[in-house]
Amino acid sequence: MTRKRIIIETAVFCLTLLILFVCAFLSFFFTSRDALYEEIENVASVSERLFDGNDLSTGEETMDAFRGEKDYRISIIQRDKEGYEILYDSLGMTQSNEEPKEILGGNVGTFVTRKSSYGYPMVYYAISDKENPQYYVRVAIKESTATKLARDFLLYGLTLLVLLMLSYIFYRCWNYARMVKPLQDQVERLLYVAHSPERKIQGDNDVGLITQAIDDVGKQLDQRIQDLEREKEKTQLILDSIKQGFLAVSQEGRIILLNRKAALLFGYRQEEALGKDFHILSAGEEFASLVEKGIREGTDQGHVDIMVEGRIYQCDVMSLKDCWFGETRGGVAVLFLDVTKERNLVRIKTDFFANASHELKTPLTSILGYQEMLSAGFLTTDEEKKEAVDISLREAKKMKDLLNDMLTISRLENGKMTGEVVDFDLEGVLRSLLQDAAPRIKERDLQLETHLESYPLHANVQEVEKIFSNLIDNAIKYNHEGGKLVVCMNRKAHKVMVTDTGIGIKEENLSRIFERFYRVDNSKTLQNVEGTGLGLSIVKHICQKYGYHVEVRSVYGQGSTFTVHT
Ligand code: ADP
Repeated sequence: MTRKRIIIETAVFCLTLLILFVCAFLSFFFTSRDALYEEIENVASVSERLFDGNDLSTGEETMDAFRGEKDYRISIIQRDKEGYEILYDSLGMTQSNEEPKEILGGNVGTFVTRKSSYGYPMVYYAISDKENPQYYVRVAIKESTATKLARDFLLYGLTLLVLLMLSYIFYRCWNYARMVKPLQDQVERLLYVAHSPERKIQGDNDVGLITQAIDDVGKQLDQRIQDLEREKEKTQLILDSIKQGFLAVSQEGRIILLNRKAALLFGYRQEEALGKDFHILSAGEEFASLVEKGIREGTDQGHVDIMVEGRIYQCDVMSLKDCWFGETRGGVAVLFLDVTKERNLVRIKTDFFANASHELKTPLTSILGYQEMLSAGFLTTDEEKKEAVDISLREAKKMKDLLNDMLTISRLENGKMTGEVVDFDLEGVLRSLLQDAAPRIKERDLQLETHLESYPLHANVQEVEKIFSNLIDNAIKYNHEGGKLVVCMNRKAHKVMVTDTGIGIKEENLSRIFERFYRVDNSKTLQNVEGTGLGLSIVKHICQKYGYHVEVRSVYGQGSTFTVHT
């Protein structure tokens, strides 16, 4: 409500009061005058009845009584051709030079106000005597007496009216100030919140200024909200752009922040997961209890590994005890780091030592056993001695092959294989490899099919030889007796394929066969297939070195195809 409006309302109220008062006064004035006139008429009529034209003293007493009642002046006036004469006057004013207009012309029976011989105005009323029409009975009253009631009404009424108006005006002003002050304080607080440079409202108790200030605050707050929204979007964008998953959980265990990666990790949309209990993430009991403990104790809780869709994530649970989230302080933040590679490397390393020691120990034990028997003289016949030497040699060769493979891998991993890189034709290399393998192919009664063509390459010949000797070797080893071996080159498509119709590889083993020492347990399908578990690992490393890519497709029980994309 503005000050202007209050002024208008107050003015309207006062004007209405004034109009009502004027109406009331007029109504009172006319009613009281009519009542007085009626009374005067009555007095005149009674006096006329009492008056006997022959005896002026008749009714004098009564007329005097009337006079005393309201200070009426009652006169008997005789009128003839020569003029008029006041025969009786209740005030004793018979010798008067006044001209009694009230008995002249048509004034008889009407009220006439004029100046009296006393010098002050009076209201006159005259009627003629019924028996003697030359006599008039006249009743007069001081005008001031006649209007006294109205004047009193006006005086007291006006005083009351002014008091009423003043009270109303005072009340409105007081009420306005009472309403506006807290509003002003609130708006000043809002200005402060909105960081408005105008933190004080200039001018007191003016709703107009306050409205203006509210408008300003609204604009400032709009601006600030927009800024905050932008800040929030920026933060969310940054959070979403990091590759690690990030999650914040409130003291009550609700998800209050999570980035896109974290949401994707658990198969949710961000807006879907926000505000929900963190247990919906189903990240395992260990994870849940670590988060709960972090919330409870308000301390960092280290980390726990969880497995999501075949990948390993390290979840670092950190305390947020100094942060406000929602209504409470605290909660935890969780960072999900994809550590699949690192964990696999550790596992591979551990496996490597275990496997290497095992693979070396087996032939060594065998060699030692035979040598001890020889030295102790347990083997007496030449045949026994020859067999012991042959086995020892074979086992020693196995150890040598294994150590060579290990050395090759180690050199490849350390980037130390720096043999000469030359231009050569792969066709020649494959032909010579197949020629070398011919006795073994024949031994296993395999049907060899080749699609060879000139295939120039720029690499180290020995390393490329290692790739294909391993693949051909495996295709022979893991084939069925009488199976098929196909070596196919496609220069245009830049690929070389080695296909066999052997035992194949199960889906679950496919991703692991390139790991060091990884060997599929084929004891049910093929027996006594020797190997180190390092062949495909060497293939993978050499391919990586030259930017080649090795791919395997296999159907368990039907065969496999290894394709090298050069
Ligand atoms: P290995 O010395 O045992 O042959 P590799 O690294 O060459 O070691 O191969 C790893 C494993 O992959 C093998 O143990 C075998 O189970 C599987 N594998 C490799 N090539 C084939 C193939 N052509 N057919 C079936 N299984 C194969």
